[in-house]
Amino acid sequence: MSDTPSPPPKIMAAKKMRDLMTTYYLEALSAAQNHRQVAWITSGGPVEPLVAMDIIPVYPENHGAMIGSAKMGEDLCAKAEDMGYSGDLCAYARSDIACAVVKGGPIGGLPKPDMLICCNNICGTVLKWYEIQARYFQVPLFIFDTPVCHTGYTPEIAAYVKTQVNEYIAFLEQVSGKKMDPARMNAVGKLSYEGQRLWQQVLNTTAHKPSPMSAFDAFFFLALIVTLRGTQIAVDFYKELIAELEQRIKDGIGVVPDETYRLLWDNLPVWHRLKWLSDRFSAHQACLVADTYTSAWCGALKYMDENNFLDSMAEAYTRIYLNIGVDEMAEEVLKMIRFYDIHGLVMHSNRSCKPYSFGQMDIMRIVREKTGIPVLMIEADMVDPRSFSESQIETRIDAFMEIVKHKAGRS
Ligand code: SF4
Repeated sequence: MSDTPSPPPKIMAAKKMRDLMTTYYLEALSAAQNHRQVAWITSGGPVEPLVAMDIIPVYPENHGAMIGSAKMGEDLCAKAEDMGYSGDLCAYARSDIACAVVKGGPIGGLPKPDMLICCNNICGTVLKWYEIQARYFQVPLFIFDTPVCHTGYTPEIAAYVKTQVNEYIAFLEQVSGKKMDPARMNAVGKLSYEGQRLWQQVLNTTAHKPSPMSAFDAFFFLALIVTLRGTQIAVDFYKELIAELEQRIKDGIGVVPDETYRLLWDNLPVWHRLKWLSDRFSAHQACLVADTYTSAWCGALKYMDENNFLDSMAEAYTRIYLNIGVDEMAEEVLKMIRFYDIHGLVMHSNRSCKPYSFGQMDIMRIVREKTGIPVLMIEADMVDPRSFSESQIETRIDAFMEIVKHKAGRS
């Protein structure tokens, strides 16, 4: 008889989520036939006004994640490089720029946009990327500028961003030819708030031991709070997911059989190696229970007023994880280490995402000094597999896990 524990049952809600995402993309792809407009928007952009005005938001970064998961990143990134773009440019941008021309990727390219909404709260790359696409598709571009909040949210920043909320709505009214309905905007704001609150609840379930799901599951379930934020669909789905995860907790089902070590992931996922990485850590009875990436879509809840969403939106969208100073980021990481009872931190130094990777050495130092837990840094790229060495990363994970086990007194 084998001593290998049997794998836990799959999370049933995953199938429903796939169906919802298929419906969402079909609706977006058939928008023109149904006389609806499509806006491409950055992942951290204020989407609620679009939803309130019945404009379909489409996220090139979510599409980039699909390209990475489908292992189509290398071809598309190489194609962009053939077009003259540097291999140092973010792989989401490279694959999207190439996809627009060759109609490649897992769904044959995104629907043509009627407008582009670019919010620079995640990085500066998106500014040039969206300018390129605005020229290519010959459509209007709105830039929502959110200054970096290195040490806090000053009255000057507040006034500056608030002005842009008004300009944003005026832009949407002009391009769509419709007036914004304040009652509808309020309703969408409440749904967005509720969706983010539920998403936080989903992520909180992994504080339980054993964890009913892993960060790899969170990377998958994240897609809905990104793409369908502000809709009843996202709210209903996350309620169902929470019920299933709570049942798993009651039944004692952990996603990693014999979970012994609990790890925190930093930075975007390596989309083309999710299963490979999950298997490597599981082999050491280690579960990546949480991550800094997926929590970015609920981390600004504390700045939001569900009854006055539009007014609070400026602060909430400015003070997101990638737009704050390194000290505040480190504070967030330390909070997660305490909340999830973490044994080790795994940092993905992401060749694509400079703003996420830039402060990691400082965060690593702060975490080591304040908690003493081991930290592993692996070099990779979220979409482009040419920056990934399986043998090198496997050796590093094995060595890191030896230290984690030793520190936990179990080696
Ligand atoms: S550089 Fe980072 S934040 Fe910017 S688009 Fe790429 S992955 Fe997203």
